[in-house]
Amino acid sequence: MEAHLEDTDFKAGLVALIGPPNAGKSTFLNTVIGEKISIVSPKPQTTRTQITGILTRDNFQIVFLDTPGICEQRSKLNKFLLRSAFTGLETADVVLLILDGSLYVQKEHLIEKEVSPIVARLKAVQKPLLIAINKVDKVKNKNLLLPLTQEILKYLPDQEFFYISAKLGAGCNELIARIVELLPEGQMLYPPDQISTVPLRFLASELVREKLFLYLQKELPYSVAVEIIDWQEDEELVKIMMTIYVSKESHKSIVIGHKGSMLKKVGTEARKELEAMLNKKVYLDLWVKVKPKWTENESFLLALGLGKNEDFF
Ligand code: GDP
Ligand code: MG
Repeated sequence: MEAHLEDTDFKAGLVALIGPPNAGKSTFLNTVIGEKISIVSPKPQTTRTQITGILTRDNFQIVFLDTPGICEQRSKLNKFLLRSAFTGLETADVVLLILDGSLYVQKEHLIEKEVSPIVARLKAVQKPLLIAINKVDKVKNKNLLLPLTQEILKYLPDQEFFYISAKLGAGCNELIARIVELLPEGQMLYPPDQISTVPLRFLASELVREKLFLYLQKELPYSVAVEIIDWQEDEELVKIMMTIYVSKESHKSIVIGHKGSMLKKVGTEARKELEAMLNKKVYLDLWVKVKPKWTENESFLLALGLGKNEDFF
């Protein structure tokens, strides 16, 4: 009989990233994968769908599920987001809870508000859990970290924790090594060069949404959706047409900006990143359309790919 010893130690599995909005889940994913696959913003609740990031090394493959933050459900869109956050939990081999340590150092009372709703869900699924206390680069006085951790562990007794800076990558290798230890032995789930299951075209529309989040004020970016209308590609050039949906006529003029200045800024920045991502010249054509109450429109949400969850196995 032939011996296939080389495969016996391989570890593979699914890791759900969970945590409050803005904790740094998407940043962590982009840092460990080494490419931007999930959009990041200083405003909470940017990630809308479940984004996968696949990290493959000689002895392991981790499929990370980046989920929208866990928050209260108001609109239909929020309910969709929450459903997708918890579906990740149920399919995961390991759960990674990411918390913003720099926030809790300032505002300790937020620990209870943000962590307790998550604890209840975690108890229900009974998965191996690791806690990453993130943004430690922002905590000037490192002596504050230990009492903070003790406070967090009151809600999650006896759990393992790590200090990381997702932005700078500090502590991330140690955390990955521990995740690998907890993963089951198994075969690769995806080809080694694949970094996400999310289609490139969807990533392209997400880049535009990221820029809208960056430049639009207040609540406006939450009522914006981006859809790819047309995508034509040859050897050198990709021509992409996208529609930006807003829910009110007044929002349309804000997205377009004075003499088109906002749309131009968003388009130029997104195009530059798209060119880097696709390794081709990009011609990006952006249109703005009003679609009243789209966040309540279930069939439209589904058409945008929101609310559906991929079947991983
Ligand atoms: P998510 O909602 O949990 O996915 O959070 P994001 O990844 O979108 O990050 C929210 C904000 O926190 C963004 O402005 C990030 O740049 C910032 N951020 C994330 N991780 C770190 C970190 O380790 N250090 C610092 N200083 N900022 C971070
Ligand atoms: Mg996110």
